Amino acid sequence: MVKQIIRQRKIIQMIVAIGVYQLVFVQGFNLFYLLAATIVLGGITGKTFCRWMCPVGFISETINTLMGKDQKASLYNYHKVGCPIAWIQGYLNKQSFVKIKLDPKSCTRCGACDNVCYISALNKEYSLIKPTKLDPALSYRCSKCLDCVAVCPTGSLSLKLDA
Ligand code: SF4
Ligand code: SF4
Repeated sequence: MVKQIIRQRKIIQMIVAIGVYQLVFVQGFNLFYLLAATIVLGGITGKTFCRWMCPVGFISETINTLMGKDQKASLYNYHKVGCPIAWIQGYLNKQSFVKIKLDPKSCTRCGACDNVCYISALNKEYSLIKPTKLDPALSYRCSKCLDCVAVCPTGSLSLKLDA
């Protein structure tokens, strides 16, 4: 069920992004309220706005796909620069209530999660499975695309409350 939702991320992002655009640019919703809402959301889920809700993120990702650009490199660069919402939510990746957690008992060390993640694939000091390396899911660049969760064949990565 979770994997099916993740696989529909771009459709969900398109629908929510149109809603956000309407709210801000048609209805005139105050941008400071939007910023406040994203800070609260960031405290709960970390950086989820960019790749699940943001109109600019949706357009940027779509253009890159249509141009056949290297998705990993462009996403990595995009989430390195970001915007105020991305910076704040990215910082909250370490503090958020919900985090991506590994179950080391069921993990077969196939490496599929590290290969699909644009942070660990491009930065050898990061890994979702190697305890001696930095966790990309806690990096401010992690945009909660959840590709790592979707690709895991054993369900060893999942979203969990950080109790
Ligand atoms: S959600 Fe997973 S695959 Fe996506 S950027 Fe974060 S750690 Fe990498
Ligand atoms: S994809 Fe899943 S099983 Fe494979 S290394 Fe990552 S967490 Fe372990």
